[in-house]
Amino acid sequence: MDQEYNKGMKERISSIKKLPPCFKLSEEELSFLHKPPPGALPFAVTPYYLSLCSKDDPDDPLRRQCIPTTRESKFKEYELEDPLGDKRYLACTRLVHRYRDRALLLVTDHCAMYCRHCFRRSSAGKGRLSSRELNLAVTYCKEHNEIKEIILSGGDPLTLEDDRLTDIIRAFRTIREELVIRIHSRIPVVLPQRITSGLVSSLGGLHPLWLVTQFNHPREITPESSEALARLAASGIILLNQTVLLKGINDSFETLELLFRSLVRLGVKPYYLFQGDLARGTSHFRTSILEGLRLYRKLSNLSGLLRPMYAVDLPGGGGKVVLDSGAAEGSLAGWLKLKSQEGKIYRYPVEESQ
Ligand SMILES: *Cc1c(COP(=O)(O)O)cnc(C)c1O
Ligand code: SF4
Repeated sequence: MDQEYNKGMKERISSIKKLPPCFKLSEEELSFLHKPPPGALPFAVTPYYLSLCSKDDPDDPLRRQCIPTTRESKFKEYELEDPLGDKRYLACTRLVHRYRDRALLLVTDHCAMYCRHCFRRSSAGKGRLSSRELNLAVTYCKEHNEIKEIILSGGDPLTLEDDRLTDIIRAFRTIREELVIRIHSRIPVVLPQRITSGLVSSLGGLHPLWLVTQFNHPREITPESSEALARLAASGIILLNQTVLLKGINDSFETLELLFRSLVRLGVKPYYLFQGDLARGTSHFRTSILEGLRLYRKLSNLSGLLRPMYAVDLPGGGGKVVLDSGAAEGSLAGWLKLKSQEGKIYRYPVEESQ
């Protein structure tokens, strides 16, 4: 594998000792980093992403995504360990078959950087997909012809070696030639050096292949990340982006418009804008859902190329629903009532007063 990439992973900053001394830490950051609370999402950031962060402003939108604070230990009573309810849809280990025509495979729990707002935080600690687990998932997919699409997720699939990743993709392609394969990865944002010519040429032979990345802020679009996207696009991989709506980071019309416009210019279609899931210790990142709906109404004037779907994963396994002015079935005592795709009513807290 490319030297640049190995260097990026090896030089990852994963403890307070490795942070450059010029980094001025706030009380809340210091106190987490000195003694990470048990069970917390690990701390790790690439030197590249850290270089984009402000050294002295703890409220910097990029810094907040990578430097943990003690606010992560504040749990709300309605926050959940498995906010998406994935566990009840496990078809076999690591394969989540929630929707009829697509299944999601958790290929690793590793990420180049651990995003502080991550809502798959409970999948950390399960290591990588073994050959046995891959065989089980492939067999399941072979027996379930209704699955037309496989999503490789995690963790971050692009932390796997090129060979391992292409083996996984080929294993599915071998049993079902027409399968669409999609990779969910934040690597283009946090470690664009990983998008090497070697990786791109191995993936380039495996169409139809889609890559869904996660740019949350216009400052994440740099010469390095633009170059990574250009390489992927040049090899024929189709690029989409999902943005997580994050309080105080990107919850303004101007920030989102600039982000979406820049992505489209680079050939990346904004796919989803996600309302924050109810993962434990993430309330400081959640914009109120009513505020989100107001913001989305403003975004609806933008070109269709720029406009993602605003969606939320209903707590407790209700699945994704697209939020628009017609989505809410009314509210009751601080909760919004939302209808799932199956027509069942789920509750989502309004959190307006925070
Ligand atoms: C989000 C998700 C998908 C993908 O849904 P799309 O709307 O197609 O992007 C598939 N499976 C699971 C379990 C998911 O959480
Ligand atoms: S890259 Fe994705 S899975 Fe990994 S920490 Fe970030 S949001 Fe979570």
